[in-house]
Amino acid sequence: MTTNTRCQAAHATDTSPCEGARQAVRLRDGKGNVKLGCVHHAARAIASIGGLTVAAGPHGYQGYAWGDSASRTAIRRAKDLAPFDWQQQIA
Ligand SMILES: [Zn+2]
Repeated sequence: MTTNTRCQAAHATDTSPCEGARQAVRLRDGKGNVKLGCVHHAARAIASIGGLTVAAGPHGYQGYAWGDSASRTAIRRAKDLAPFDWQQQIA
């Protein structure tokens, strides 16, 4: 599969597919660069890259229960992830 259908937060070496809306979470780095990502890849980016500001994206509430936004879900998941964890799944 091509990689250009995935969200902006997906790392180049991370081949996993997006989960849900691809513009669910807005990530801003220390330089002011903004990327929109799905919950899955946003969580991995948060766990791997320091200093990100996390906010809800344009689709941040689609598919998520009221009161639990995609950005909060991504932050919560990131706490259980090791940095660049997809690179450590190779047997
Ligand atoms: Zn994604």
